[in-house]
Amino acid sequence: GSTLEIKNLHVEIEGNKILNGVNLTINGGEFHAVMGPNGTGKSTLASAIMGHPSFEITEGSVLLDGEEVLEMEVDERAKAGLFLGMQYPSEISGVTTSDFLRSSINARREEGDEIPLMKFIKEMDKALDFLEIDKNMAQRYLNEGFSGGEKKRNEILQLMLLKPEIAILDEIDSGLDIDALKVVSKGINKLRDEQFGCLIITHYQRLLNYITPDKVHVMMQGRVVKSGGPELAKRLEAEGYDWIKQELGIED
Ligand code: ADP
Ligand code: MG
Ligand code: MG
Repeated sequence: GSTLEIKNLHVEIEGNKILNGVNLTINGGEFHAVMGPNGTGKSTLASAIMGHPSFEITEGSVLLDGEEVLEMEVDERAKAGLFLGMQYPSEISGVTTSDFLRSSINARREEGDEIPLMKFIKEMDKALDFLEIDKNMAQRYLNEGFSGGEKKRNEILQLMLLKPEIAILDEIDSGLDIDALKVVSKGINKLRDEQFGCLIITHYQRLLNYITPDKVHVMMQGRVVKSGGPELAKRLEAEGYDWIKQELGIED
């Protein structure tokens, strides 16, 4: 498995400091959850690692197996084995989901070693079945007119077919009804093995009833202020974040 090390990451948007020194290490085989109140920089963390141009990295580093991710082009990050799911996936007109998936898989393979079409179709159909996604969706333009739930299932479909080393999933549970939440969780759990590490960003504890994280981290004011096991998420669900603020002397 691979290791993703986020070290002392500082990020600004238009001169405003959003991340103030985030430290996190995810190893292959581990599921980590990042929780925290709204506006504490969780999505910024995901976007900065993905290479979103609005986010200026002023300090720190992100290493994938010792290699600086922040110096890689965005497509190189995917090729290196990073998968970044987004809170608001964008629609791509003119590209079917199926074509998008196949070219994403091939982008991670060497030239001349493209996935055979029949093998791809077989794998895709299997994943569509597993995620209870209508087969017709694969022929629709990526995310165009997809419901919130369809977009999230589609992200898990990408994840299952791309088999990245490390995935960062931002609010994969937002806007899902309970059935969709179960299916999405089932997909993520199926990926659990020594080769796969996952950072699950979520505002709510309920996803963690279906996906048991090895570690839970709380972000506040642009940094990780507390880490623990699954019991930490349970306490947050029961008590909210105030006790941590009090512990740390943070004012609202
Ligand atoms: P979270 O995901 O924890 O809810 P975000 O990372 O989305 O938090 O936001 C952290 C802070 O950064 C917020 O104060 C938000 O308003 C600000 N922010 C996020 N994106 C932008 C942007 N594109 N331009 C300006 N401010 C932004
Ligand atoms: Mg938010
Ligand atoms: Mg967010």
